[in-house]
Amino acid sequence: MADAAIQSEDRTIKLQVAAARQEESGHGIARLSRASLSAIGAMEGDVLEITGKSMTVARAMLGYPEDEELQVIRLDGLQRGNAEVGSGEHVKVSKAESRPAQRVVFAPAHKEMRLQGPAQALKRNFFGRSMVQGDLVATTGQQQVADLPPQLQRMFNAPAYSLTQIRLNVVSTVPKGIVHIDENTEVELREVYEEAQGPRGDINYDDVGGMGDTIRQLREMVELPLRYPELFTRLGVDPPKGVLLHGPPGTGKTRLAQAVANESDASFHSINGPEIMGSGYGESEKALREVFEEATKSAPAIIFIDEIDSIAPKRSQVHGEAEKRLVAQLLTLMDGLNSRAHVVVIAATNRPDAIDEALRRPGRFDREIVIGVPDESGRREILGIHTRGMPLGSGVNLSELARTTHGFVGADLAALAREAAIDAVRRIMPKLDLEARTIPPEVLESLSVERDDFLAALKR
Ligand code: ADP
Repeated sequence: MADAAIQSEDRTIKLQVAAARQEESGHGIARLSRASLSAIGAMEGDVLEITGKSMTVARAMLGYPEDEELQVIRLDGLQRGNAEVGSGEHVKVSKAESRPAQRVVFAPAHKEMRLQGPAQALKRNFFGRSMVQGDLVATTGQQQVADLPPQLQRMFNAPAYSLTQIRLNVVSTVPKGIVHIDENTEVELREVYEEAQGPRGDINYDDVGGMGDTIRQLREMVELPLRYPELFTRLGVDPPKGVLLHGPPGTGKTRLAQAVANESDASFHSINGPEIMGSGYGESEKALREVFEEATKSAPAIIFIDEIDSIAPKRSQVHGEAEKRLVAQLLTLMDGLNSRAHVVVIAATNRPDAIDEALRRPGRFDREIVIGVPDESGRREILGIHTRGMPLGSGVNLSELARTTHGFVGADLAALAREAAIDAVRRIMPKLDLEARTIPPEVLESLSVERDDFLAALKR
């Protein structure tokens, strides 16, 4: 097998990372060829240690037939984040031993998320699955409802977290190293986000649907230069400083920028145009300067400016001095960014013609990408993302839904999935004892989002 992959004494091979298929993301599996598996002495189902800049674990599965001849390993976005690698880069892979954990502590993977309730459900969800401290992991959904206290109020407050995938940070484990949860493991769920973070944020390329080509373009413009600055220096070309995304609201521009930042191992700093405009005299410029300073300090970094048209309208058309000063400040900051600062500014607008022309000159926002309303296959992908982890009834046909939602943008499709899930929860409400701390397993089992739930949500 030595010719099939680079092999060393300790049965470690080097494989190139490729993206997992969308429908398999979040399951903690890695796919690799038969030859690669035997080169490390592993079989399907074994635990693998996967090391990029960091180490993570996955369960081995046999690769897709088309990958059989290739030295690739398919990892999903969370796993790429956990190993700190990008698609196309290499990781070291070997067979690993996983020990039963005495204790595992989870916390929500981002700041806005609040979780409550018994950690018992988590234990069921992750039973047998190997993990290491610092990993971001995704639940598979269904049992998660049990994590919500049964009070009606709360259930409706957190439906998005109950029926869709929840991402959690593995805050700590006892013992350290590669562990799995078994019947004796004590599992704790912290209610809020913990600063002690894994290497990356939780949004990645798997979370933006219908953007295959756009992701490729952005990877070239942003991820490559941030990841391999020396390549660009060597070629004597300056990587782009600014990229303008234009497209209607709700098409995923913000999410895409977050995904690029995470997959490039860059910090993410966001500025909301209208919000910054609302600050007092001189405050807006100051706020803008501060974001640029902070980004430069924590480079590689991406600055995301949402609704840039509101802070940089055409100067010929504005009368207020404040607006003019803000445009000028933004230009100064862009020009002041050293091309070796490893900071890329991504701005979003729905009205590219409304922004000051000076911003679109070379060295500023000189690249543009159009983010359109998704087509049918894009809608199918987006629906797949937002129903990931939902217990779907057998009558649910996402392709049919994609066909009948012409004109829907990502935000509409996300809302549709959420509404359908709320209907499903509403259906089981009468079976719940609102005083009880947990939801009986048989009620949970009966919970599923049906075709009619989607149709009803569509009518609203
Ligand atoms: P924009 O910045 O273009 O206004 P956002 O990125 O803020 O849009 O999208 C709002 C929400 O809509 C996202 O949080 C996500 O739930 C959903 N969404 C929008 N576009 C997509 C997409 N292409 N794929 C997956 N989800 C999407």
